[in-house]
Amino acid sequence: MEFRRTHYTTQITPQMDTQTARLAGWVHEIRDLGGIMFLILRDREGLTQVTLFKKTIDPDVLQIAKSLSRESVITIEGVVKKEPKAPNGYELIPTQIDILNPAQSPLPMDTTGKVDAELDTRLDNRFMDVRRPKTQAVFRIRHHMLSAVRGFLEQEGFIEITTPKVVATATEGGTALFPITYFDTEAFLNQSPQLFKQIMMSGGMDRVFEIGAIFRAEEHDTRRHLNEATSIDVEASFVDHEDVMQVLERLVAHVYLTVSEDAASSLNTLGIELNIPELPFKRLTYDEAIEVNNEHSKELLEWGDDLSTNAEKVIGEVIGAHYFIKDWPTEIKPYYTQPYEDEPVITKAFDLMHPRMELSSGAQRIHDYDLLRKRIQDQGLNPDGFEFYLKAFRYGIPPHSGWGLGAERLLMTMLDVDNIRDVVLFPRDRKRVSP
Ligand code: ATP
Ligand code: MG
Repeated sequence: MEFRRTHYTTQITPQMDTQTARLAGWVHEIRDLGGIMFLILRDREGLTQVTLFKKTIDPDVLQIAKSLSRESVITIEGVVKKEPKAPNGYELIPTQIDILNPAQSPLPMDTTGKVDAELDTRLDNRFMDVRRPKTQAVFRIRHHMLSAVRGFLEQEGFIEITTPKVVATATEGGTALFPITYFDTEAFLNQSPQLFKQIMMSGGMDRVFEIGAIFRAEEHDTRRHLNEATSIDVEASFVDHEDVMQVLERLVAHVYLTVSEDAASSLNTLGIELNIPELPFKRLTYDEAIEVNNEHSKELLEWGDDLSTNAEKVIGEVIGAHYFIKDWPTEIKPYYTQPYEDEPVITKAFDLMHPRMELSSGAQRIHDYDLLRKRIQDQGLNPDGFEFYLKAFRYGIPPHSGWGLGAERLLMTMLDVDNIRDVVLFPRDRKRVSP
């Protein structure tokens, strides 16, 4: 049939009783009970019960309804009938059904949520998985989350930038990079916009942010690591680490609040009620974090150790809310973090933690050229490879600070999702590069 550009009813209410409505969507379910047939239509607003009384319905409409396969794309015109027993308080009595595109059978997976599908099956058939209201709710919330991040940062005076994902040098040393062929030379997929956002501090941009892909070639097989993730990155001039920690905690609270308002119906689909985190977040020093771990865990840590997954879990259980760990040993943080002037073995770096995992890492950065060059060398890297970055530090760069926040981690902890693959449309991991 010819597709007619016409007005479809976006939201039916019981108050529209006896009015004509026109819907477009997918055949979610068909239940033939003998004298009565229910067709559940799914569109972007949700599910609508279409009821066919076989005695009174136009036989042509009934015949089309009987021929429908699940997940076919159709349009329905009908009369709204107030019906307190129907899920939305109304049903639609069809006067016309048109098939725009029939779906083949059997389907690669169920969309009603009645038959469970393995994660791999769902990811192999993501187009169909996203038709499931619960899956779609996650990605609608993801949209509202990123929109809230943009809204907040813009309000705080940050401007959005876009930096290259194809780069010549590693950000933090040669490990964990995906090499690519770039014409007749080798290049890499960028693991972080760190160096570029810092260069923009020299460019006088003052406050920048980027929401973009980061690539990590680590062969982890965990529920919180992807090989391609989305990072929310911020960099600001004339401020220290404490200032950007405040921006970060306020952003997290703003996102929870905004999502709870703007994505209320999607949260409802998932059965989730968000608790807005209370400010300020608790601040532990690295030393205190080690102490908490050693008091509550059998796996003891020594000063200078990075926090293990187990330590993150133990400390997270003790604190039970978002918290910061600050003042890390300089040795275990990247070369660009600013050591305390009076105690250079400690650096002005912090991590933002959710009780379940790390969400963000940040710091005040080194702005002194000589110190930065020395720190690059100390970490066994060749400063020559960083000339494009170091150059920006020789002609006047202000003191600056920033952080990188994992968008997927923020979303999965907010929605209490267990596996990070559930909050990315097309996850990239050790075993998956398609679809
Ligand atoms: P982790 O120790 O948890 O592997 P990291 O310290 O290596 O993380 P950073 O380099 O500090 O990660 O990156 C900043 C943030 O980006 C992290 O706190 C996290 O939220 C996110 N992130 C980093 N790597 C990944 C990844 N492989 N998958 C998903 N998110 C990531
Ligand atoms: Mg980190």
